[in-house]
Amino acid sequence: MNLQGIAAAPGIAMGPAFILQQDNSIVEKYNIDEAELEAETKRFEAKVNVAIEQLQQLIETTRHNIGDEKAKIFETHIFLLEDEELVGAAKEAILAERINAEAALDGAAQAIIAMFESMEDENLRERAADIRDVTSRVMRLLKGQDDSALTAIQEPVVLIAHDLTPSDTAQLNRNKTVGFITEIGGKTSHSAIMARSMQIPAVVGLRDAGTQVQSGDYVILDGNRGVVLVNPGPEMINHYKQLQRKDEARQAELRRFMERPSVTADGHKVELAANIGNPKDAFAAKGNGAEGIGLYRSEFLYMGRNDLPTEDEQYQAYKVVAEMFGQEQPVVIRTLDIGGDKELPYLSLPEEANPFLGYRAIRLCLDQVELFKTQLRAIVRASAFGNIKLMYPMIATLQELRQANALLNEVKAGLEQENIAFNRQMEVGMMIEVPGAAIIADQLAKEVDFFSIGTNDLVQYVMAADRMNERVSYLSEPLQPAVLRIIKQVIDAAHARGKWVGMCGEMAGNLTAVPILLGMGLDEFSMGGGSVLPVRALLNKLRYSEMRALAEEVLELVSSEEIRSYVESNVPAIAELNE
Ligand code: PEP
Ligand code: MG
Repeated sequence: MNLQGIAAAPGIAMGPAFILQQDNSIVEKYNIDEAELEAETKRFEAKVNVAIEQLQQLIETTRHNIGDEKAKIFETHIFLLEDEELVGAAKEAILAERINAEAALDGAAQAIIAMFESMEDENLRERAADIRDVTSRVMRLLKGQDDSALTAIQEPVVLIAHDLTPSDTAQLNRNKTVGFITEIGGKTSHSAIMARSMQIPAVVGLRDAGTQVQSGDYVILDGNRGVVLVNPGPEMINHYKQLQRKDEARQAELRRFMERPSVTADGHKVELAANIGNPKDAFAAKGNGAEGIGLYRSEFLYMGRNDLPTEDEQYQAYKVVAEMFGQEQPVVIRTLDIGGDKELPYLSLPEEANPFLGYRAIRLCLDQVELFKTQLRAIVRASAFGNIKLMYPMIATLQELRQANALLNEVKAGLEQENIAFNRQMEVGMMIEVPGAAIIADQLAKEVDFFSIGTNDLVQYVMAADRMNERVSYLSEPLQPAVLRIIKQVIDAAHARGKWVGMCGEMAGNLTAVPILLGMGLDEFSMGGGSVLPVRALLNKLRYSEMRALAEEVLELVSSEEIRSYVESNVPAIAELNE
């Protein structure tokens, strides 16, 4: 049986499944005699103290095994147990309602969780998860349960759980838990982020994993593809064992490129940056060797909620990433790119026949000026920190660029008047996604500081092939001669006017495309964090002078197949890295 979930942490793991029984039982509530109330309060206090001791231990082991940053989660948990809000409220309930400690704690926790969950600020909403985590720790102690079934794991297993809290994940012993699968969660849930930093292969969001798999079933977990195989045959096991060996050797080899510069064998330097959707991704990108952020998809801050994020919420989300990357490494924030396949139900936009050709991105922002100005203010204010650059999506004409810049100048003038600090030298650029913009790149280049080529959209518009439609996927191919030629024109037009050019479409992390783009003179490559080290490894092996010649040859070829085989046969390192 093959199951498909979300690839959360790379690597292949195999072994018997261990289903973690999580205690979701209802908390029993009963009355305590007046005479026993003091003893009940003492029992509660004693368990809280044990929980604090456990957490102190956990801080030490986490610091040692994972790092300071992750250990901070448990400092927060201790703080929550020392704070009167939770523990004080529970003690009060024991006395006032004459109830047992478990019920009192449960009532106090539920009230605080509900309060945090209703908050707008994402960081505060996440506090609810911390309260849940710390409450279940004390609850387990009150119920006399073992700290966790996790510590009982003796043999190497693939762990299957409905969900894993950060403290569960931090307790995993890498030698005993070779991989884990959760039924809920996404790529950026805490346990996924921690799995990546602990280098434990993981698949998350695999619904019903706990019922489809039985404890003791033999499981292969492929964290690169998000696949789980249950009770596979010996041939499949051998196949995956081979893949596993290759994968481990490859990952270890790639870590060597963490500290290497992004430079070719003959000394040509480029920048390798990452694409992110929120501050959590930025943390992971840094751990994957990114030298900056080439695309911060700000629309993700607007999604999964019921109203627009405030200026301050956005400001915080931009500032925290800018600070993470410091003065040297750039963070390119793209203004709201909603529309197409990215919806914001609370804007109540009318349905369109061709949403990718419709009211989206900069078109919407230039129409809904107040919404746009709020975002611009947040970005400009955040520019006082780190090295922020601002970028507009989907610009099609010079007039759109000028209108956007006029609004930006208005916002800057307002901040100036209010004496609010910002970086007056902040670079402002635009994406090249619309063929019309690529064609007039020479005119646009005069009025921007940089371009970033968005090939995900540019390819679909150049080839007239919907990027969501698999039936025309042979056209949605960045190695199409027409696509390569238009990219070359854009790079040349920018360079002729002394402007730098990046690429933040998926193509920038494609190993076959990298030699061509390098040869065409692309200055910055921005990609999913996991692609940075493979691309750096390839780059270090290439010679810029040779890739310039290769790019010229490629531009004369007549099909994407021809281009692919020409590049792959001339650059054997691509196949080595893909193995
Ligand atoms: C692109 O179009 O290449 C791009 C990076 O933007 P998005 O994928 O968010 O549309
Ligand atoms: Mg796009």
